[in-house]
Amino acid sequence: MKRHYIIPIFVPHRGCPHDCIFCNQRRITGRRESTDEREIQGIIEKYLATFPPEAEIHKEIAFYGGSFTGIPLGEQKNLLEIARQYKARGLVNGIRISTRPDYISREILNFLHHQGVTVIELGVQSLDDEVLEKSRRGHASRDVFTASRMIRQFSFQLGLQMMVGLPGDTREKAVATAQKIAGLQPDFVRIYPTVVLEGTLLAALYREGSYQPLSLAEAVDQAAMALLIFTGAGIPVIRVGLQPSEELYAKEGIIAGPAHPAFRELAESRIAYFMMCCLLNQLPAPPHRVEFLVHPRWLSAALGNKRANIINLSSEYGVDSMRICGHEAVDRGDIKLHSADNQTRELYLSKKTFAARVAGMFGSPHE
Ligand code: SF4
Repeated sequence: MKRHYIIPIFVPHRGCPHDCIFCNQRRITGRRESTDEREIQGIIEKYLATFPPEAEIHKEIAFYGGSFTGIPLGEQKNLLEIARQYKARGLVNGIRISTRPDYISREILNFLHHQGVTVIELGVQSLDDEVLEKSRRGHASRDVFTASRMIRQFSFQLGLQMMVGLPGDTREKAVATAQKIAGLQPDFVRIYPTVVLEGTLLAALYREGSYQPLSLAEAVDQAAMALLIFTGAGIPVIRVGLQPSEELYAKEGIIAGPAHPAFRELAESRIAYFMMCCLLNQLPAPPHRVEFLVHPRWLSAALGNKRANIINLSSEYGVDSMRICGHEAVDRGDIKLHSADNQTRELYLSKKTFAARVAGMFGSPHE
């Protein structure tokens, strides 16, 4: 598979008359000014100069932030024309935009298709109408289903973004949202935790005590469940956690909430914990000594932050000696258990099998 290289162009708050409760777009994009044509060319050239020269890489210009298809048509054309020229010259392979589900129509998709756009990302956030309303998204869940299907019919690649921890959201609703998103079969998804950004309505609610963000542990748990659901459905999850630009603002911009620079690793670690529990539960009695083997590149996630998985599992299962070791023969994300008490036992659990089992446990929610 070709490696992907993204050239991000931030289009902060342009075209968006909405004020979603969690959004301070100028801050999220890390910029407060709009981006002009020469600036964009400069950014593209700068990124292209840093990419490896091999032909076997996929290069994409991505317009992030704001709601791209809400920008006046002339401006959309100008922005896309710059990208289209790089694509026509063979310097990039694709063009990506992100927008709201209710800013999609056949006319808009026709236009984007003719401008060379290849990937459309929709900010879904939740597929629970109460959560959408409380978050002041200004659209309903049915808009997501309609837009996603239309985008599919036009053969764009489809990316969907979900958030955990919005006002009115619960564990069950987050799981149901992930299930419904998986049912739409996007090409990729992103999972974000809700954090309280300075200057947003959420910040006011937080300060008056009417909104409480998720704890880091709960946000990680919910993200881990969503990650498992997508993995079980074979859908790539290209981001779990905040955008790096949001992390840049951690000190001055994020006033509360489960922000963590290694959020994805924490979620992967939680999945490893669930999988190790599943393997230990298959043994007739808790073993005295047990060894888990994982791929070396998954070792840090499997061990957990400060070896939390070993510490917690040893105490919860009463295991005297527990080791988690790297082994090339185990696929990344899979876990092999080896216990050598009275009887030697070996068990193997693949992440995909486990993910499918978890997804099956939740059933398939209706739209
Ligand atoms: S639609 Fe997007 S850009 Fe507009 S306020 Fe909501 S999150 Fe921010």
